[in-house]
Amino acid sequence: MRRNLVVGNWKMHGDIHSNEILLNTLITGLSDYKSADYVVCVPNPYLHQTRSLLENTGIAWGGQNVNQFEEGAFTGAVSPHMLTDLGCTYVLLGHSERRVLFHETNLSAAARFDASIKANLTPILCVGETLAEHDAGLTEVIVASQMDAVMATLNDENFAKAMELNMVFAYEPVWAVGTGKTATPEQAQEVHQFIRQRIARRNAEAASKVRIIYGGSVKAQNAAKLFSMPDVDGGLVGGASLNAEEFIAICKAANA
Ligand code: PEP
Repeated sequence: MRRNLVVGNWKMHGDIHSNEILLNTLITGLSDYKSADYVVCVPNPYLHQTRSLLENTGIAWGGQNVNQFEEGAFTGAVSPHMLTDLGCTYVLLGHSERRVLFHETNLSAAARFDASIKANLTPILCVGETLAEHDAGLTEVIVASQMDAVMATLNDENFAKAMELNMVFAYEPVWAVGTGKTATPEQAQEVHQFIRQRIARRNAEAASKVRIIYGGSVKAQNAAKLFSMPDVDGGLVGGASLNAEEFIAICKAANA
């Protein structure tokens, strides 16, 4: 059985004072809910603070992106080792905001996926179609191209390591991210099943084990129905992860 996973993506929000309140509320609120896994992906400047508050609590933390190179003249970039050095176990990759606003591509996401695996970071690869692609019936074509770029980049050794690290895929329809529109549970299930089948083309065992989480305006009020679908293994939560009560309620829904 796959354990549900709920990941909070704080995006570019927070400060030392508000982070402390939010994280301490999560620690208390989630201490009795141990049937799912929780992660917060925080802005890099707050990773140290996050580590000092979350260490030994069962809540993991991660970065929101990472560079593919180990070190060098890459002003503004952060290496996989820098994230693990700060205790990160997860990293988001290929988020639609990175793809749209920072022109990241399938190939660059795949390179960062590979680099994360090599550094023992569990990648959470975000895939999903824009509204125009959705309306044109291109959802599967787009998601397949995003998935296949990663599958083609991973050699057998790194694919096996990605399985050991419990790599995660997040279906995030771009039209649902930060918009207040959510995919219906049935729409999400259809694409999650497609993603699992795509992984099965490479390795059937991996496909049955890999967690595929849904992101796009997940709220306390819609989480339980989404998470009840057979191929939806939790959620990637943006806006609602900044509100402790709302995020805790979503995490509780993942415990059912
Ligand atoms: C996200 O940032 O990945 C996300 C899904 O945002 P929101 O929950 O605000 O739609």
